[in-house]
Amino acid sequence: MVAPAASHSKPAPGPAPQPDAADLLVWYDRHRRVLPWRALPGVAPDPYRVWLSEIMLQQTTVTAVKPYFAKFLERFPDVAALAAAPEEAVMAAWAGLGYYSRARNLHACAKAVVAAGCFPDTVDGLRKLPGIGAYTAGAIAAIAFDRPAAAVDGNVERVVSRLFAVEEPLPGARPALRRLAETLVPQERPGDFAQAVMDLGATLCTPKRPACALCPWMQPCLSRREGTQDTFPRKLKREAGALRRGAAFVVQRAGDGAILLRTRPPSGLLGAMAEPPTSEWRPDYEPAQALLDAPLDARWKRLPGIVRHVFTHFPLELTVFMARVAGETPAPEGMRFTLPAHMGEEPLPGAMRKVLAHALEQKLAVPAPPPPPPEPDLATPPPPEPPVRRAPLPKVLSRRPSSAAPLRKK
Ligand code: SF4
Repeated sequence: MVAPAASHSKPAPGPAPQPDAADLLVWYDRHRRVLPWRALPGVAPDPYRVWLSEIMLQQTTVTAVKPYFAKFLERFPDVAALAAAPEEAVMAAWAGLGYYSRARNLHACAKAVVAAGCFPDTVDGLRKLPGIGAYTAGAIAAIAFDRPAAAVDGNVERVVSRLFAVEEPLPGARPALRRLAETLVPQERPGDFAQAVMDLGATLCTPKRPACALCPWMQPCLSRREGTQDTFPRKLKREAGALRRGAAFVVQRAGDGAILLRTRPPSGLLGAMAEPPTSEWRPDYEPAQALLDAPLDARWKRLPGIVRHVFTHFPLELTVFMARVAGETPAPEGMRFTLPAHMGEEPLPGAMRKVLAHALEQKLAVPAPPPPPPEPDLATPPPPEPPVRRAPLPKVLSRRPSSAAPLRKK
């Protein structure tokens, strides 16, 4: 399963030393990243911050998470505040981070922690909570409670696969990579060690062109000794999902500018998130027939361009139709008009934000419905008729050319 570097054709220059956690910790003490959820040296970590950041960081970058983390701390400063919040408020604060089942699990987990009185401090205890898998449990146990646990995510898999030149491709290599990662965890400072490996993967052992010359594990790293570090981790090629197509219908109400939205079913893709009404998403969807799926009768305009979004398992292309309706138009059953001032509270996923941005950027091109004729006002006397003014008589033009004519001709 794990092939030593000696299996490569190029001979290694002498036996490699074992990777030492102490070397990595020395590097970490000098180069650790400053992150909003990371406790400063000598300060006890806050399990709520550690847990919240680890849930947010799943499948997402540090840069993308930072503003969401700040927003969550402002709205829900502790786990009790998060547990007590309505689900819609949590989903709205999460909107844009993707993988929305995580937000629902986050909320359920907060309630479970409050019911239990505190966060469990072991991997086994943490794994019993909603939304906490092997990686997150290891990360929280190590970082928040200094337990000697391995936290193995994609970054750590990359570091370990390079360090030991693991030939087996992902995803099958995961158990072997986890076992190897566990052999590295020290009894002293396991929380710092977990963060040190994360930092190594994020800053030096990057997916492309790792900065091996600066790496504290350069000597023991087998792939570095072979010069093959760029080729790890080995991966099986994954078939991309088939392209799906569909239509999205953006309805804007005249007067207050409210937008028609609905809530998606609670389970499945983008479960319980908000969206403008859309058709089915299918590989064979025909946009020319899309108006059969429109949520209401209106003067629909097909907007130029396509909104593209890539989900984990398939890419999506949406053709956007837009209509403006009269101010008194009721929302169809199961839908609602949301005022512009309240759009920020709607849990709109990234794909639907793209749809709305696409439509609203072009709204000036969409004709507004004709205003209804004014009601006859019989109570107010009509204003006095303006005096009849005679139009000036037209000048009788002389047939003789004017003196300016020759100049104009020049
Ligand atoms: S030596 Fe290079 S490939 Fe090996 S762990 Fe360090 S940065 Fe990664």
